[in-house]
Formats: sequence, C-alpha cells, structure tokens
Amino acid sequence: MKQDPADADVISHKLMLRAGIIRQLASGLYTWLPLGLRVLRKIETIIRQEMDATGAQELLMPVVQPAELWQDSGRWEKMGPEMARLQDRHERDFCLGPTHEEVITDLFRREIQSYKELPVNFYQIQTKFRDERRPRFGVMRAREFTMKDAYSFHADQESFDATYQEMYNCYSRILTRMQLDFRAVEADSGNIGGSNSHEFNVLAASGEDTIVYASNGPYAANIEKAEAAAPAARPAASQNMAVVDTPEDKTIAAICQRLNITPDTTVKTLLVRGEEGPIAIILRGDHDLNEIKAGKLPGISQPLSFCTDAEIKKATGVSAGSLGPVNAQVPYLVDREAAALADFVCGANIESQHFTGVNWERDCALEAHQIVDARNVVEGDTAPDGQGELRFLKGIEVGHIFQLGTVYSAAMDANVLDKDGHSLTPIMGCYGMGVTRLVAAVIEQNHDDNGICWPTPLAPFQLHLIALNYQKSDAVKAAADDLYDKCQALGIEVLFDERDERPGVKFADADLIGLPHRIVVGDRGLKNNCVEYKTRRDEKATECSLDTVLDNLT
Ligand code: ATP
Ligand code: MG
Ligand code: MG
Ligand code: MG
Repeated sequence: MKQDPADADVISHKLMLRAGIIRQLASGLYTWLPLGLRVLRKIETIIRQEMDATGAQELLMPVVQPAELWQDSGRWEKMGPEMARLQDRHERDFCLGPTHEEVITDLFRREIQSYKELPVNFYQIQTKFRDERRPRFGVMRAREFTMKDAYSFHADQESFDATYQEMYNCYSRILTRMQLDFRAVEADSGNIGGSNSHEFNVLAASGEDTIVYASNGPYAANIEKAEAAAPAARPAASQNMAVVDTPEDKTIAAICQRLNITPDTTVKTLLVRGEEGPIAIILRGDHDLNEIKAGKLPGISQPLSFCTDAEIKKATGVSAGSLGPVNAQVPYLVDREAAALADFVCGANIESQHFTGVNWERDCALEAHQIVDARNVVEGDTAPDGQGELRFLKGIEVGHIFQLGTVYSAAMDANVLDKDGHSLTPIMGCYGMGVTRLVAAVIEQNHDDNGICWPTPLAPFQLHLIALNYQKSDAVKAAADDLYDKCQALGIEVLFDERDERPGVKFADADLIGLPHRIVVGDRGLKNNCVEYKTRRDEKATECSLDTVLDNLT
C-alpha cells in the first residue's frame, strides 16, 4: 500500500497493512498474507524448539468445545460475552475456545491415572476466539488469534515449581531469540483462575499495559497487581480519577455523587469514555485557579495539576478546543493521571467524535455504572520491598504463565492414584503466549520512518534482491538470475524483485518490507562486475563484487 491506512492507529498495524503482512476480513479477523505467514511460521518454530527443549509435548485440540466441559469447571456461566457460543443442529451447546483448560483437563482425566505418569506438560499452537469488546491495533487485539498454550500437571508442589520456573526461563529464551526488549512482571490471574502469575511484556509506547518496576531493585509487576498489593487507595486519587464500568446511570449528578464531587455549575466533569468501558475524568470550568491549586475545588481534596491545551492534546489525542463550548480564557483543568489513564486505556485514540460539537449539559449523557478502580500507586512511590522507587513503563502483554493450583483438576475430577493407592488431585500450571500478537510487538520495536526492520531470526526472507531494468537488460537478467540461483543453492531465503517498476518504487518497497539484506543489480554496476549491497539499517549502499556479495549473508 502506498497510502497510510486511515483506520490504523498504531505503527505496527499501519506497517502490517502497508507491507502486505495482513489484510482485515472483518473487525478483529485477519488474513495472513504470504509474507506475514512466513514471519508467523518463524515465530512458531522458535517457540516449538524452546518448548520441545523443556520436554513439553505438542498436541492439537479442537477450537470448538462442548459446553458440558465448561459446565464441569463452572465457567460456562462465568464467562461473559467474550466467549462465543453456538449450537449444533441437535441444539447442543458449544463454544469457540477462548482458552483450553477444560479440554486439556478432560483429556488428562481420561488418559492419565497414575502419579507415575507425572509430571506432564502438553502444548499446542492453536486458534483462539475471543469476542473482544473492542478489537483494535490490528492483530494486537484481534478476535481470532493464534496462541501457544501449554498445560502442566504435577503430583506435588515441588514438581510444579520446577516446571513453572522452567516455563519462565523458556519464555525468556523465546523472547530473547526474537531480539525483543521485554520485562517479566508479577500479574493477576484474571478469569483463568489460580493464584500467582507472571506476564511477559514487550516494551512499547503503544502498549496497553502499564508495568510498574523499581528503579533500583528487583520489584516488577503490572499495574493491576501493583494496585492490588498497595496498602490502601489514595483517597484523593480516587476522587480525581476513576475507571467506570458498563453504562447504566446516565447523569452527571449520579457520577459526581459516586465520585464525591459536587455537581455545581462551577465544576463540569468530563468523563472520557473508551468503547471498552473504562474512562478517565477531566475537570474543567471557570474556577479560581489559585483556589483550585490550593486544593479548594469543591469535592476535591488534592491539588490538581494543570494542563495546557497542547498537553491535553498530547495526553488524550483530543484538542481541548474540540471539547465543546469552551471558555478559551480559562485553561482546562486536567488531572494528569487521568489524562495518562485515558491515554493508556484508550490509546491515543479516544474517539474525537465524542468530543466535537457536543453540548455538555445535554449530550454528555455520561454513562457510568460502577467505579471499579482508583489509582493508588504512582511513580516515585517506594517499592513494596523497600528497594528503589517505582517507575512506570508501557508494555504489550505477549505471554502469561499461571499457577492454577487444583482449580480445574478438582472441579473436573481429574484425579490420579498416588503411590499408596490414594486419590491425588494434580497441581496444574498453564502457559500462554500470543503468537500473532508477537508479530505486531516485534514491529513496534523494529521499524523506522520508512518501514519495518525485521530482526534476522524473524524476517520473512533474508535478502531482498532487486533487479533494475530486468525486462530489458540481458546483463541484469543474467546476473540477477544467477544470484537468485546461488541463493537457492546456499539456502538463503530470497525475495526477488524483478518487477517492471521504477528504482524508487522498488527501493521504497524494500524499506517498507524491511528484509535484513538488500542487493541491487543494475547495468551501471555490472560494467565493473559490481552490485550494490546494504543492510536494512545502513544509510547508504556500498559497491560489492558480484562474485563475493553473498558472503555478506553467509
Ligand atoms: P489481554 O490482557 O491483552 O486481554 P489476556 O490477559 O486476556 O490478554 P491471556 O488469557 O493471558 O490474555 O492469554 C495469553 C496470551 O494470549 C496473552 O498474553 C496475549 O499475548 C494473547 N492474547 C490474548 N488476547 C488476545 C487478543 N485479543 N489478540 C491477540 N492476542 C491475544
Ligand atoms: Mg483479555
Ligand atoms: Mg492481560
Ligand atoms: Mg493475560
């Protein structure tokens, strides 16, 4: 694609469309084009090699799963609309697997009867379907996506701990081989259940997750975990900012009441709502700035920070000037944390049509139901273990390993016999990794203004071989064909551009696709038996002898 796609708002999504990695079929559903599929396969290979090396065994479970299993585990009712349900022609209930704990536990209870067969760790690389409320950022948050998921079963805690650590190390090796800058952090377990878990986050400004880590110590957790572990909510913070769940109450008054803010004419409370539900709160109005600075805003006990229009724009992606009828004389009052929250909850993509031309009193039918969160951890706090100050970073969750305990094995009666012939409920772990999401994460960390810069182990091809004037020049055709054949013989993966296009077009496409090496064969160089060579990250190409140029790749 020559143009920037209009509906893509993170760089990886743009580049994946432009470079011909993916195409969208419908919201959250993507076709992997030939170039993209090669990348996906490389990632899968790395994952398989590292998983196999730990002794885990690959299998493949169905996407469609019978409801009975989910009723057994108690999750049929618990799973919300994210789980897609369907009926077969006999009106039996099924779902499209959002995850596979039930299926693997069912397999286990049918097949494994004795402690002697433990521990076992099974994994698959399989399609998952989650009807995400707000699919976005391309394959980063899709509805149909590929996950590597592994499930282990153990006779005792010691055995479990060893495998959990092994999986932790395995994930670190996989991401290191992919040349990603990542952090492993403590995390909550969500609706997978169980107790402890660790998330693997790839660092990226566009990431939806916030990582909290110690400047000078080992502490690292995701924000939810850090919040949960913090001693107490900061009352002031909870007044200044809240995350509001599903729409129900529709009045400013109701929200203000919940927030303990006085809904008088001097305070207008704007709730920035992402489609996913969470919102941030921006206060505005014509207040006595000094009073507010001193913390005298009605209902707000903590001094607020002030933002200029430019800062609001930067934090929320929305110009304050577009926020409806504005008194331009008075600066907006924005709780900086709220703006930051809006930014990370909604990305830079807080739909501006929320905001343009609205009449605050009438149209801002603010929708709120339940205040479920308030920030009680901020940058600069001392880490829980006392070692270092807390800092925040944005990340993309690419992997998540869980300690499930006996939640599923107990609920589903997946017992085995121990050495005394007694019933033993195995301890389980599960280990997920977002294979398709990883492709986007890799691009977030590996691109420049002109396109993708694939790390060598993941590049769909190693070499972009460009022949200029291939159709008309016999010399170019002969030399380029010969190089191509040599690559085949040497096992160098080569993308051969012999199209009848202008050099500029070919160079731009090569940069966009981002293969590690580029060779250009043209008439001018061939006069001296030379071609041009450069790596993707080199500024300029160098002249190289036709005979030795492939040495750069071997
Ligand atoms: P998220 O918090 O981003 O919704 P999750 O915590 O729901 O992810 P898990 O249940 O932990 O996801 O699944 C394991 C992995 O699957 C995640 O770490 C992520 O890499 C990947 N994944 C989850 N949901 C999606 C999705 N909608 N699109 C692409 N990959 C996903
Ligand atoms: Mg999720
Ligand atoms: Mg998560
Ligand atoms: Mg997770």
